[in-house]
Amino acid sequence: MSDRLRPTLTGITTTLLFAIGFAATECAIASSAKALEVQILPQAPQLGDTISVIVTTDNPNIAPSVTVNQKNYPLFKSQEQYRAFVPTSPLNSPGKMTVKVQGDNKTSNIGVWLKNRTFPIQRIWLSGKASRPATQLELDRVSAFKKLVTPQKFWQGSLMRPNANRVSTGFGIRRYYNNVFAQNYYHKGVDYAGGYGSPVVAPAAGQVRLVGREDAGFHVHGNVVGIDHGQGVLSILMHLQDIEVTEGTMVKAGQRIGTIGSTGASTGPHLHWGLYVNEVAVDPVPWRFESIE
Ligand SMILES: [Zn+2]
Repeated sequence: MSDRLRPTLTGITTTLLFAIGFAATECAIASSAKALEVQILPQAPQLGDTISVIVTTDNPNIAPSVTVNQKNYPLFKSQEQYRAFVPTSPLNSPGKMTVKVQGDNKTSNIGVWLKNRTFPIQRIWLSGKASRPATQLELDRVSAFKKLVTPQKFWQGSLMRPNANRVSTGFGIRRYYNNVFAQNYYHKGVDYAGGYGSPVVAPAAGQVRLVGREDAGFHVHGNVVGIDHGQGVLSILMHLQDIEVTEGTMVKAGQRIGTIGSTGASTGPHLHWGLYVNEVAVDPVPWRFESIE
C-alpha cells in the first residue's frame, strides 16, 4: 500500500479549496449561508479509482445532484452531507474530468485530474475450441445484479480479501488476442490463486442477490455469488466450486460463502473477485486499504 497512500476523508483537495473559495466569493453578501461545499477524494485519482464526491449544502433536506459526462450519480445522505461515487476504469480517458455539482440553486463545475496509469499487458493466443458463450439467462441475471442500487449501506470500513491466497492477476490488465489489442477489455477484478476447496469469504457485509450455477447456464461466470453491499457497491465472486449461501442471505464481512473452483470460463482453480460501483468494475485495491465510506 506504500505507493498508494491516500488522503483520508478529512482531506481537502486544492481544487476543492478553490471551488469553495469561488463559491464563497459568489455569495459574499449572504451572511449565514455556507453555500455549496464540495469535497473530492482521493486527492490525485488515477484510472480505476472510485471518486467520492461529498457535498454539503445549506439545506440538507434538498438533495444536490452530481453529474459527470451527462451521467447522474446517485447521492446518499450521511449526517448532514451527501456522497456520490463516480467510478473510473482503464477505459476512461486520463486527464481533466469535470464534476458538475448542483445544489443551493448553484452549479459548481469542478475539474478533477484523472491520472494515467499503465496496466500490464497479456498476449493471449486462441486456437482450437473456444470457451462456451454466455447464455441469455446468465447475461440477464448478471446485468440485473450489476444495476442494483439499494439505499442501505451495509459495508463498513476497509474491505477484506475474499481468499487467503496470493493474487495471481491484478486489476486492469489489458490483452492482445492473437496480436489484436482488445479495446474494450480489461481485467475487471482481482484473481486469487487458491486450490480447489479453499474458503471464499464475503469481502464486506451485504445481501446475497445473485447465485448462479454453471449447470444452470452460467457458462462464463461458473458458479457465482453476487453480494450487494448497498448504495451501488457490489461484489461478484466467480468460478466457485461450492456455494454455501442462498439468494437473500445477509452476510457479514469475512463470512464464508463458498469455495474456490474452476467453473465457467476458467482454466484452473482460482477466485475472481470483481468490485462494481454504479455498474463499473473498479480497482478493489483502494477499497481494501482505505476506508471508502
Ligand atoms: Zn479474473
